[in-house]
Amino acid sequence: MRIFDPHIHMTSRTTDDYQAMHAAGVRALVEPAFWLGQPRTAPESFLDYFDSLLGWEPFRAAQYGIAHHCTLALNPKEANDPRCTPVLEELPRYLVKDGVVAVGEIGYDSMTPAEDTALAAQLDLAAGHSLPALVHTPHRDKLAGLRRTLDVVAESRLPVDRVLVDHLNETTVKEARESGCWLGFSVYPDTKMDEHRMVAVLREYGPERVLVNSAADWGNSDPLTTRKVGEAMLAAGFSEDDVDRVLWRNPVAFFGLSGRLALDPAMPEALHEGNSILRGGE
Ligand SMILES: [Zn+2]
Repeated sequence: MRIFDPHIHMTSRTTDDYQAMHAAGVRALVEPAFWLGQPRTAPESFLDYFDSLLGWEPFRAAQYGIAHHCTLALNPKEANDPRCTPVLEELPRYLVKDGVVAVGEIGYDSMTPAEDTALAAQLDLAAGHSLPALVHTPHRDKLAGLRRTLDVVAESRLPVDRVLVDHLNETTVKEARESGCWLGFSVYPDTKMDEHRMVAVLREYGPERVLVNSAADWGNSDPLTTRKVGEAMLAAGFSEDDVDRVLWRNPVAFFGLSGRLALDPAMPEALHEGNSILRGGE
C-alpha cells in the first residue's frame, strides 16, 4: 500500500514517527504551515518556520525515504493578530520556491473580519502564483464555516477545482462535493473522523476527489491513520485500486496542479547547511 499523507505537521513529530510511517507505506507527504500553539509575535518567526519547512524538514524526511513538500500561508488563527499579518507581504517571495505545492492552510478559525481579509488575500496569492490552495474549515459551526468558505472561494479568481477543503465530515461533505472542490478528511483521534466513519463516507460518496490525511500535529494524534483507513477500506470490500486512488493518486493529482511535486525522495544528503542529524557524531 503506497500512501501520500496530504496534511501532517512533521515539525511536531519524532524520528520514530518517520520510521513507523515508512514501514506503513508512507512515501510522500505535505506539511502545511500552521499555528504552533505558542503564539508568534513577529513576521520573522514565520519566516524561520517557512525556511524550516523548505530545508530542514525535507532533509529529515529524506533520511527515512519520504518525499516532503509543504504549503505556506498565514494560518487562520494568527490572521487575527496584527503582529503577524505583515507576513502576508513576505509570502510572495516564498511561494515561488520549489518545495511549495500550495498556499495553505488558510480558511476560518473563528470567522472574524480579519480572517475574511487574510483568506481572500491568500486565495488571490494562490491564483497569482498558479498554485492550488489548502483550506482549513473550522471545528465549530462546521456547515456555516464551509458555506462562508465556499462563498469567498467563489468570489476569488482561484477556480474551485484548484481548492482542497479540509477537515470535512458527514455534515459538510455533501455541500463541499457539490461545489466542485477537492475533499479533504482528517482522520484524527477524539475530535475528527475515524477510519470507520471515513469508510462510510466513501461508500456513500465514492472516492472521486477524496483525500485522507492524519493531520497529526502536537496534539493527541496518530501519523498512521491513513494506513488504518486503507485497511478499513479493504476490509469493507473496496478494491486495492480504490485504496490507491484515495491514498496516493488523488493527492498526487491535487498537489500536482502546482507542477512542483517531486516524488522520488532524492538520496538523502549527509548535511543540511553544514549540520547532520547525527548529534555528536561525524
Ligand atoms: Zn493542520
